[in-house]
Amino acid sequence: MLGLDRALQSCVCSSIASASSSSSAASFSSCLFSPCCLPAREQRQRRGSLLCRSSGVRSSETMESTLKEIREGASVLDMDARATVGGGVGDVYGEDRATEDQLVTPWTVSVASGYSLLRDPKYNKGLAFSAKERDAHYLRGLLPPACLTQELQEKKLMQNLRQYQVPLQRYMALMELQERNERLFYKLMIDNVEELLPIVYTPTVGEACQKYGTIFRRPQGLYISLNEKGKILEVLKNWPEKGIQVIVVTDGERILGLGDLGCQGMGIPVGKLSLYTALGGIRPSACLPITIDVGTNNEKLLNDEFYIGLRQRRATGQEYSELLHEFMSAVKQNYGEKVLIQFEDFANHNAFELLAKYGTTHLVFNDDIQGTASVVLAGLIAALKLVGGSLAEHTFLFLGAGEAGTGIAELIALEMSRQTKAPLEECRKRIWLVDSKGLIVNSRKESLQHFKKPWAHEHEPVKTLLEAVKAIKPTVLIGSSGVGQTFTQEVVEAMSSFNEKPLILALSNPTSQSECNAEQAYKWSQGRAIFASGSPFDPVEVNGEMRITGQANNAYIFPGFGLGLVISGAIRVHDDMLLAASEALAKQVRQEDLDSGTIYPSFSNIRKISAHIAANVAAKAYELGLATRLPRPADLVAYAESCMYSPVYRNFR
Ligand code: NAD
Repeated sequence: MLGLDRALQSCVCSSIASASSSSSAASFSSCLFSPCCLPAREQRQRRGSLLCRSSGVRSSETMESTLKEIREGASVLDMDARATVGGGVGDVYGEDRATEDQLVTPWTVSVASGYSLLRDPKYNKGLAFSAKERDAHYLRGLLPPACLTQELQEKKLMQNLRQYQVPLQRYMALMELQERNERLFYKLMIDNVEELLPIVYTPTVGEACQKYGTIFRRPQGLYISLNEKGKILEVLKNWPEKGIQVIVVTDGERILGLGDLGCQGMGIPVGKLSLYTALGGIRPSACLPITIDVGTNNEKLLNDEFYIGLRQRRATGQEYSELLHEFMSAVKQNYGEKVLIQFEDFANHNAFELLAKYGTTHLVFNDDIQGTASVVLAGLIAALKLVGGSLAEHTFLFLGAGEAGTGIAELIALEMSRQTKAPLEECRKRIWLVDSKGLIVNSRKESLQHFKKPWAHEHEPVKTLLEAVKAIKPTVLIGSSGVGQTFTQEVVEAMSSFNEKPLILALSNPTSQSECNAEQAYKWSQGRAIFASGSPFDPVEVNGEMRITGQANNAYIFPGFGLGLVISGAIRVHDDMLLAASEALAKQVRQEDLDSGTIYPSFSNIRKISAHIAANVAAKAYELGLATRLPRPADLVAYAESCMYSPVYRNFR
């Protein structure tokens, strides 16, 4: 099959036609014939009628000649008709001529109907198929008589989900739904976003990745391992969808705060892309989750009999960068310049380098660095309404100087620089970072990793966070070290001693790693802290009032950000687009949100928020000359909304 024309291959879909299924394969087969492969006249003829094509097993030689005929203009319809005339379905090409040792090409071409339609997640509606649809699509008898609305199906599923006590069971039930009935899955996600977000994403997805081998059923996404070196373009072509707009890719080396999970990191791209669709309205068929498997250094996984990845230690250096380079080139070659590649959960030694290397040649975005930065900056801009002053009038201290910490710091400095017209280097001086060795200062510069160097300011060495707080006197304290309970009572009290309203962001995930919890922040600051966190916390009663803590969740930004790139046809990500996204999100924070203590808007409006973010990002892309979708729509918010995928069932003729 390697030499076959791929366009034709997508048309002549392959599916397994085993000997045992020969009779049903001869009647109704399982793939949807892609109408784009037919001449316009024939497409018109086909509309309105369900044509189930013959199928069966053809030898590879026959397959080659079949494809040649198609290339030369004959339609599959003509050839199937000929096959039928020449002796009936299954006589010439049928499986009864196939023997065990004969090389065969399994293939089938048809409009999905009947049993196959019920098994196709893209089109399946389960009990929501109407009586008319059941007649027209050979579904009579395959479903019990009841017809349910999508709303009723949703109600039933939510009831079922809530009965599971264990979050991982909910995760598995949701994944199973996604594979069974895609539209219903997304309807559930959109209508119940606050409840389901912690399941398809952090924290439950973390546990799912840890146990991915054990809970593995059907593969989701594309696996590219070292074994595929030299063949990555071919592997990409194996993916059934062609119109890919967003790829989320991980190498599994730093999954959330859980470390190296190797190939089992796949849960992250899958989860993030379902949020791209649910929250940002990107079509599911335009999303491609990818895991690049270069091995794992996780001994537990290497010794786990159910581990699904390569059983070797991580490839590094040239071997790693060559594979990544082949991947990046193949993606551009296959999908063009406008496909967004989102790097996800790469360890920081690779993350910064990949972003810098491919930022000038590809449309790339790193959510851990850039998405985090944008969402945190938005919270800070919103919080200024509570604490007063401009961004440049504040002093920032970070605990943790990795992807999140330095990414946020850089975007804050950039925003300050844009607002004050001061040079970026000057703005950086208002931002201080502490890493595992203490305050980052000039005397440590030589030994610092490159991404920490811009933050080495003139100061005497300081060893601990508490000392740093006392010495720097920050107005904003941000935790991004991944180490829990590091904002101690002394630290919060020190912050509260020189700030009327200390702004405290404990971003580390999961919940156990949070620098402090909401209750501690309010208690130790006598209720004066403005607090937000990476993991969600329940509301806390402070002086007789309930305080809702904001969650600096990247899911506020990346779906809308990606949508903005897609609808403008952007070809590069520019830092100003991140600032535009932050501004749009900050604007969505209402006075009621601030009054209740949160510096982020409610997730229940996330699609509207995403549309505003997308519009701002797209506007920036047009302004910078990076947009290719021309002319620019006049009302970008309305345009973004109109482009969003809707999960509502469609009627089938
Ligand atoms: P990273 O590994 O790139 O960086 C961690 C940094 O913390 C490193 O600079 C390290 O030197 C420092 N560090 C480690 N132990 C320390 C200690 N005891 N004291 C001081 N510094 C210490 O990781 P990252 O991607 O930057 O993520 C860090 C944390 O931020 C994770 O827990 C992650 O879940 C969280 N995070 C939250 C959000 C969000 O809330 N939206 C987004 C991204 C990351």
